[in-house]
Amino acid sequence: MRRTISEINERILDGEATVLTAGELKELVLNDEAPSADEVDVVTAATCGVMSGTAAVMHFRVSEPGSFRKAVSAELNGIPAYPGPCPNENLGSVDLFIYGTARSVRDPEYGGGFLLRDLLIGSEVDVTVKSEDGTSIESTVTLKDIETARIIGTRMAFRNYTAIVNPSDKPVRSIFNAFEMPPHCGGLSFSGCGDINPLENDPGMEAIRRGTSVLLNGARGLVLGEGTRSSPERPNLMLSGDLHDMKPDYIGGFRTAAGPEIFNTIAVPLPVTSERVFERLLVLNSDIGLPVADVRDRSRIIHDLTYADTWAGDERPTYNPERCADCLPCLAAERCPTHAIGDGLDTDRCFGCGVCAFSCPYGAYEMDTGEVRIGDRTVPIVCRQSDRVRASSLARELKELIEKGNFLIGGC
Ligand code: SF4
Ligand code: SF4
Repeated sequence: MRRTISEINERILDGEATVLTAGELKELVLNDEAPSADEVDVVTAATCGVMSGTAAVMHFRVSEPGSFRKAVSAELNGIPAYPGPCPNENLGSVDLFIYGTARSVRDPEYGGGFLLRDLLIGSEVDVTVKSEDGTSIESTVTLKDIETARIIGTRMAFRNYTAIVNPSDKPVRSIFNAFEMPPHCGGLSFSGCGDINPLENDPGMEAIRRGTSVLLNGARGLVLGEGTRSSPERPNLMLSGDLHDMKPDYIGGFRTAAGPEIFNTIAVPLPVTSERVFERLLVLNSDIGLPVADVRDRSRIIHDLTYADTWAGDERPTYNPERCADCLPCLAAERCPTHAIGDGLDTDRCFGCGVCAFSCPYGAYEMDTGEVRIGDRTVPIVCRQSDRVRASSLARELKELIEKGNFLIGGC
């Protein structure tokens, strides 16, 4: 069986293409009902997780032309941004780069990922610009005021990750957990959506190439090429998309014990052009290795798992307010990486990481995230840094766009 991309696109335009999400295909495989290659045209694979290499490039008017000469520093809601490279001399406007991992000077719990989500939900953002002539300008903007707002992900959608534990006898702060890693392998954190991840389904990057159209946080995005530190064994992608078209469900801040991080969601169409390509799409969580590393030295692998060991249990926590003892402070709220716990559980913000259930001593938050065996220890999974719920949702959105003939395979 062989099909060209043009043939698949013709079938999409004719409304005849059979499209499955990667999750649907895996379910069929697990139930011994796998279709054959010629019965499927496209599989939509997706991932959602913490992706540190995320930046936004913006241009917007701050004040009247001539009101300042050239920005030398800027902050948005207290988050430092990098002016330039264009000076916009005397135009009253700025070009800015903002990192998803940047931390607000006003609030250490607020970072670039939270700022981008706040812009997407329509919030007004404080702007401070300092000019080289000593002028300081205070202003506010909303996303509508920002003419250019593009996300550039320098390293996204990693195929392979490592899980992390702390074998030492002291807690360790790390970006790999929302709170200090418990000593004596008291908890495991991990990333990666396993068998629905695009690069697990196309490890040789035969379908995913420079110029491939994808959905980035709900917007149409583009693969710019391989990301930084990408290698044949551990590929990742450099991506770009327009922030204006993104959806706040798919992007946001994620606090860690070592500073703010940002999560993104990416869905990629994988055309079934041959039986060989289809064979790769049948990969399951149990086929995908997940080495466990020492948080103090990630090159020190101390155990080997698969994603079947980690992706089990509940997708989201349940909240039982009658069990709440009103502790001060509330450890579940203090540690929740997405600020989803306030007056109850904000399900829109919840990432399904499981930290609240591990942290609440009275079971007000309950969630089975599973446990793994490492040597003679049973280690609870305390923090998921990827979210299969969001990834599956975006994979379904992409499937629907393709089924309606509104998204073709290939370049933009
Ligand atoms: S830690 Fe649990 S019991 Fe204590 S205040 Fe928070 S939710 Fe309530
Ligand atoms: S699972 Fe709990 S800690 Fe994690 S994001 Fe949801 S509410 Fe917050």
